[in-house]
Amino acid sequence: MQRTIVVRLRPAPEQAEILRATLEQYTACFNEVAREGFTTGCKNGVELHHRTYALLRARYPALPAPLVCSARVKATEAVTSALTWNRRREQAHAEAVKRAALQGKAPPAFRPVRCPQSRLTSLRYDQRSYWVTWAEDGRGMCSLSTVAGRLLLPFRVLPHQAPFQSGKVCTADLCFRRGRWSLHIVVLLPDPVVTPSPEVIGVDVGLTHPAVTSSRRFLGEKRWKEQDRRIFRLRRALQAKGTRSAKRHLKRLRGKRFRLHRDHDHVLSKRLVEQAPAGSTLVLENLTHIRETSRLGRGPGKRTEAKRRLHSWSFAQLFSFIEYKAQAKGIRVVRIDPRHTSQTCSRCGFQHRGNRRTPAEFHCRACGYRLHADLNAAYTIRDRYLTCLAQEGTALLSGPTCQAASRVPSS
Ligand SMILES: [Zn+2]
Repeated sequence: MQRTIVVRLRPAPEQAEILRATLEQYTACFNEVAREGFTTGCKNGVELHHRTYALLRARYPALPAPLVCSARVKATEAVTSALTWNRRREQAHAEAVKRAALQGKAPPAFRPVRCPQSRLTSLRYDQRSYWVTWAEDGRGMCSLSTVAGRLLLPFRVLPHQAPFQSGKVCTADLCFRRGRWSLHIVVLLPDPVVTPSPEVIGVDVGLTHPAVTSSRRFLGEKRWKEQDRRIFRLRRALQAKGTRSAKRHLKRLRGKRFRLHRDHDHVLSKRLVEQAPAGSTLVLENLTHIRETSRLGRGPGKRTEAKRRLHSWSFAQLFSFIEYKAQAKGIRVVRIDPRHTSQTCSRCGFQHRGNRRTPAEFHCRACGYRLHADLNAAYTIRDRYLTCLAQEGTALLSGPTCQAASRVPSS
């Protein structure tokens, strides 16, 4: 498994000057390749290399060749992602136009994805362009390739990062943010050896109850919702005010909501993984398209608050935190199709929108089963995964793939 160690670098002013120049030239290369790839629709790395390499080497002779290549690799990734998003937007737009025509409304405007460009990107080093050494006492040294040759910089590894020092050092990203230099070193650690357990835990994540598990645990805090709302309202009020003092205040608040969400996600993922036994399986819903498919996200005017929360929900971040924390404990994380999990009875399997009469209570119309709605969803999520397993004919302990589990059971 991979882990990232973030260390702070404290270069002397003249060293910082060199790093800055390196980063600027690297960013220029990134932008150049990204523009070439995006405008011509090319996302083939080799092809982009042939088109841009000689030009960039001639334009930035001081920038070492491995860094030019690294910038191209990074730009190719950005172009691939942008083109994929653009295609998805085109598909969504075509459907929206069709919908609008059916309803007799004017077709919505198309918002294309913009070409990926960066003011100052982070620089990715690999084994050819950097090395690090570190001792047990936390003192470390790194050598970075720059426009003025190699630069040696000392750093300190913090105590909580020390366990990762034993890993194999892979790439590293040099970042400059808010006047601070940092190096994000990726290390490869061996996977833990855990005996798989047959236990399967369904987890329903949501905005009101952050996480409810089929082992009847309600995780997360109710106050999180209020904390988020408070910052949002304060920001909105300050933005409306627009005075100098309000702007100062806004500057202090910058990134606060992001940090708050990240903290909540860390707390929640940690608790989730803690309550699951080693070797078990956590089943989550695949919420990737929730923003487009949710009835909340599309509806008109009303329920703005719920809509805003849905669109600022950092579930992708939460899932990535759960995944990496689970990995260290040998817990498998799988995702299932999320359709109708909250409307399906976990006792008799009857699915109907009317099963959920209030947001909090589930009451089956067929068998009369009554329980907390999110708890019912957690049971349904667990059972859907187990059904998938049975249909795939896979032994529980050998472990299925996520793809197998993401299909809808035909029952
Ligand atoms: Zn029922």
